Amino acid sequence: MTGSGIDMADPDVVVVGAGGDAPALAWRLGQQGIDVLMLEAGPFHGNEQFPNPHDDRGNAASAATGDLSGDLLDQQFTAREGDMGSPVDGKLRWGPADAERAPWARTVPQTGVISQVAGVGGTTLHYYGNHPRAFVPAIDDQPHWPIDYADLVPYYQHLESVHPVKPAPTTPKAELFFEGARRSGYDLTTGLNVDDEGYRPFPNAIHQPDEALARDGDYDGDFRDIDGDTLACHEHQGGPHPRGAEFEDRAKRGSLVSLVPKALDTGHVEIRPNAFATQVLTRAGPGPLEACGVAYRDTWTGRTRRIFADCVVLAAGCIETPRLWLNSGLPDDGWVGRGLTTHHFDFVSGVFDSETLEDIIGQRKVEPHQGQAAGSRLDVPGKGGIAVNTFAPGITASVMFSESVNGFAFENDTSGEPWDTEGRITGTKLKEQMSDYRRMLTLICHTDDRPRQDNGVSLDANTEDEHGPVARLDWSPHPEDDERRLDLARRSAKLLDEAGATHIHRAAAAPIFLHLQSSMAIGKVLDAGGEALSVDRLFVADHSALANGVGGANPTHTGQALALRTAEHLAERYFDGVADPIPADQTPASADD
Ligand SMILES: Cc1cc2nc3c(=O)[nH]c(=O)nc-3n(C[C@H](O)[C@H](O)[C@H](O)COP(=O)(O)OP(=O)(O)OC[C@H]3O[C@@H](n4cnc5c(N)ncnc54)[C@H](O)[C@@H]3O)c2cc1C
Repeated sequence: MTGSGIDMADPDVVVVGAGGDAPALAWRLGQQGIDVLMLEAGPFHGNEQFPNPHDDRGNAASAATGDLSGDLLDQQFTAREGDMGSPVDGKLRWGPADAERAPWARTVPQTGVISQVAGVGGTTLHYYGNHPRAFVPAIDDQPHWPIDYADLVPYYQHLESVHPVKPAPTTPKAELFFEGARRSGYDLTTGLNVDDEGYRPFPNAIHQPDEALARDGDYDGDFRDIDGDTLACHEHQGGPHPRGAEFEDRAKRGSLVSLVPKALDTGHVEIRPNAFATQVLTRAGPGPLEACGVAYRDTWTGRTRRIFADCVVLAAGCIETPRLWLNSGLPDDGWVGRGLTTHHFDFVSGVFDSETLEDIIGQRKVEPHQGQAAGSRLDVPGKGGIAVNTFAPGITASVMFSESVNGFAFENDTSGEPWDTEGRITGTKLKEQMSDYRRMLTLICHTDDRPRQDNGVSLDANTEDEHGPVARLDWSPHPEDDERRLDLARRSAKLLDEAGATHIHRAAAAPIFLHLQSSMAIGKVLDAGGEALSVDRLFVADHSALANGVGGANPTHTGQALALRTAEHLAERYFDGVADPIPADQTPASADD
């Protein structure tokens, strides 16, 4: 093993991507004494080896938890949320760390926005910490997926204790949602395994609020003394702990603060940021072909290099994993990059009058910006899920009122539908809507869109960047996906109506590619252990290995659970096995497990 800041020359396993799922795999391999080099296209925030990650290249690599710095994370990230988020020139984007350069290209022929992030922690640098398990039928009713739900449970439990995952605190906006759900006839779901319809607090990977913040607590107004979730503002980038927390104590448990320190702590994992993999190297093996390394390009210097290893793991996400595969000329039987799902989102909001709110939640405003961004949900297996999803005012104006596949609200006849308006709202009308922001509750529908071979990632033969032909993403909903989304939108409107909303608006949102799954599915491109069917020693450990959109539950918990499981299969097949298999010694995480 090399020291920190030095590039590991001879790893056992090379992993492409250090995003949401890959650190789980690296941690598990590192625990078995397997040397892992992770190549990450984007920057490493909060690391002494890279003190100015958007201005200077810094050192080559990091291999020690001692490199991680909460203070640096504050400087580079937590305190700069305002200039992080833009997909063009924000610090969290799909693009090089060098802030002076343009983002990397993708081709999206139809309407739609991709929301993905390059950097250690990947797109979980942006996420809300929602960590539900997959719906049980979404795993067990997939004939092409050779894994049962029961196989995943021990890995779920392992991660739930690590992050940790806890039910979100019930804030006023959650109580309003629960009251609407109860009046609509839904029951509270208990436990973590979801078979049936019901509402519940979101199981979130966010440290619980400090007890001082409770109504009877002794909070004196100074956040510096507060641990965990402050419930102040919404959790987007950075996490809600304002300043001063230790790196691993950050409230929101994106992979950068939860799993990356654990991976580095094994002493067998090195992460090299600013390293864009451009080719999987192969050679003839006992089977038709086997992977033996990766070629990559330093995004600051342009220098290219090859790394050889016993096994290669692709964890570059649902778009770049198939792009790298195809750019490497690896075999394709028609399912590489295909079957992409995206949860076909929609948004429905309700505005409440102050008296109604006073009656239900004891205050005259919803205050949607306070508390965890998504802290409560309704599960509808077979259709998807509905969650409270509260954004800051600017994002609310954008997703709720400014984008729609159904044109402008003034063009749409909504008679017969449970909403008053549908579609885009602009100008004075938008100002009127937004002036009600503090009495508004916004719900997001996560539709259980199904994998279809027509949807997915291919190479754009006409557009190349410095890393080869770029990915082209084609996705359109099947009429059955539209039906499921409409069903969820109607359930959302009913819930808001039952809670007493005076005006209900449906966005009929244009596609947002934010929860991406299943473009390199186990059962299609990969075997049950996550290894490629057509290339030996080549594994996939990101959301692309999922068979579907896990029913509409947020996908990261399942992606990480699967990555842990894939690590164990890799260690069994090509190294000395697993000394401490996860299923062997689990403490159940909840009564129904
Ligand atoms: C605003 C927002 C909120 C979200 N909230 C939630 C939530 O609450 N719960 C949830 O479950 N999900 C949430 N998600 C989705 C979640 O973040 C993603 O589903 C998850 O991060 C995907 O994990 P992944 O490992 O497949 O890919 P990623 O996390 O995208 O990681 C892929 C990594 O690979 C790197 N990479 C790509 N190509 C290369 C290459 N050629 N060489 C080297 N490195 C490469 C990328 O830079 C990236 O770091 C949210 C997403 C967004 C945008």
